[in-house]
Amino acid sequence: MGNIELLNISFSYPSRTAVPALQHINFQVHPGEVVAIVGLSGSGKSTLVNLLLRLYEPTGGEILIDGYPIKDLDVKWLRERIGYVGQEPRLFRADISSNIRYGCTRVINQKDVEWAAKQAYAHEFISSLPNGYQTLVDDDLLSGGQKQRIAIARALLRDPDILILDEATSALDAESEHNIKGVLRAIRSDLKTKRTVLVIAHRLSTIQVADKIIVMEGGKIVEVGSHSELLIKD
Ligand code: ADP
Ligand code: ADP
Repeated sequence: MGNIELLNISFSYPSRTAVPALQHINFQVHPGEVVAIVGLSGSGKSTLVNLLLRLYEPTGGEILIDGYPIKDLDVKWLRERIGYVGQEPRLFRADISSNIRYGCTRVINQKDVEWAAKQAYAHEFISSLPNGYQTLVDDDLLSGGQKQRIAIARALLRDPDILILDEATSALDAESEHNIKGVLRAIRSDLKTKRTVLVIAHRLSTIQVADKIIVMEGGKIVEVGSHSELLIKD
């Protein structure tokens, strides 16, 4: 599980049919791959993610998940299998452990929570906080990147086949820059789960880690390749 195929996808927002947000998008992501989507604001990255989460139906073309048309899949099941971490994840005024557990329906124990925190490279800063896991989450205590890693831990705890990450643009701190690389590598090297990762990338380090980079412009894919392939072309 975790194979994603987009076949000639087009999409126009109902309020803005004259300007398609996506046109003729074709690509495939294999289980275990880390794929970065890059492009300027307005190029269609979020729209693409919205279609994968089935917030909208494509105007044309078809999306297949493990060979099945996405429109035939149960939405609830689909959203269980796809972990989505947005740019500014919401944390609750509760301890971090509860924040990581939030929304998880399967039976978990503290060890699972610690595993998820470790995979998301959140364990180090968590243990350095006053009172560690017991600390009430105070927004000011954490950087945007750190909050996002807590949200990644939350998503991983649910054991998704596909992880979609919209990388934080706020707080481009060095610590998060370094650690997100580790997170992506850890997820990829976990051969047991073979999770697919789709990341809307804003950081060079993320792009360097990705197996494949999809470059978008004006709702179209303009380039696809590995980091070194794209460098050679430039
Ligand atoms: P980003 O580049 O991070 O996607 P945007 O500034 O493009 O951020 O979009 C922010 C929000 O505004 C998104 O939820 C997007 O769906 C919405 N949005 C963007 N363009 C339009 C538009 N023309 N009409 C209505 N909503 C829009
Ligand atoms: P990105 O994520 O790369 O910034 P988006 O997918 O948000 O790009 O936007 C792609 C295009 O769709 C842009 O022209 C944007 O203005 C438009 N758009 C995004 N969201 C909406 C919306 N809710 N309604 C109408 N147009 C939108």
